[in-house]
Amino acid sequence: METEHVKCLIIGSGPAGYTAAIYAARADLHPVMYEGMQPGGQLTETTDVDNFPGYPEGINGPQMMIDLRNQAERFDTDVRSGWVTEVDFTGPIHKVIVDGKKEVTADAVIISTGASAKWLGLESEKKFRENGGGVSACAVCDGFFYRNQDVVIVGAGDSAAEEATYLAKLCKTVTMLVRKDVFRASKAMQHRVTNTKNIKVLYNHEATEILGDETVDGVRVINNQTQEETVLPATGFFVAIGHKPNTDIFKGWLDMDEVGYVQNVPDSTKTNIKGVFVSGDAADKEYRQAVTAAGTGCMAALDAERYLASLED
Ligand code: NDP
Repeated sequence: METEHVKCLIIGSGPAGYTAAIYAARADLHPVMYEGMQPGGQLTETTDVDNFPGYPEGINGPQMMIDLRNQAERFDTDVRSGWVTEVDFTGPIHKVIVDGKKEVTADAVIISTGASAKWLGLESEKKFRENGGGVSACAVCDGFFYRNQDVVIVGAGDSAAEEATYLAKLCKTVTMLVRKDVFRASKAMQHRVTNTKNIKVLYNHEATEILGDETVDGVRVINNQTQEETVLPATGFFVAIGHKPNTDIFKGWLDMDEVGYVQNVPDSTKTNIKGVFVSGDAADKEYRQAVTAAGTGCMAALDAERYLASLED
């Protein structure tokens, strides 16, 4: 198997990975980045990003990732396409296997593999995700585009409850589809939902189709108890049924919570393995914003730089 040694390896290419790369490259760590399955990460699935500081007119998500990549490459980050399939964190030199056929060893590893929103899996959901026509998994990112409009949100956990109350401040009405007859969200979050006048909760309801030509104009729903179908007029459809951190390859090596979020040492990006750092959504189930991912990417590069300097002492 082909092998190569690098000083600083970055796995994943969202805002966390690119920011880590910019800082690591400027610190002469000669970072090598493997982009992963979805170069640019979750932001390549969004349209306009209006909440990243520094873009007064907003920026298109894919364009923002190209800008970040160009910035990382300007400082000589070696950005490569490749998917890390396996890791071995036994020793002080960390091993990763790329695409099942190349072994890369690294003194420091920065994990920025992100998380993926879960989707319902409907054909129509896919269509409107791809054309930016009104389906989103991030109310904080996209809610603004539906001001004074009617929207539907699916989910019954804390995220859905939080996003529904966020949307209710902007939108005319929010209809929440809960597939069981109970919420999973905490009581406090449920109260927030039920005390918000313009949120209507439909228990035992599921979305079966998102309607519209180029943009969403309604949602077909079914009452899973009576099988009765209705169409809810709406221009936005939000999915908040959870996220899955992309951390399966690190299972057994890194401390994680039950869902798979990597547990960092508080107030740092250190993991339980010396020289392995984590940034972005792979370790964050609370904030999940591009700007917070970028912030922790910066922290990971600084932590890696200090770690590598300590090896030379
Ligand atoms: P959860 O896994 O807690 O909840 C997912 C919800 O989506 C469940 O209600 C589930 O329904 C529903 N769901 C799943 N699949 C489908 C489907 N195919 N169709 C319809 N509904 C579906 O995810 P969250 O993102 O809400 O939360 C993740 C973690 O983050 C939790 O631990 C949560 O407490 C925490 N969190 C905390 C916050 C806070 O404290 N402020 C804010 C946000 C998250 P069902 O109940 O029927 O299984």
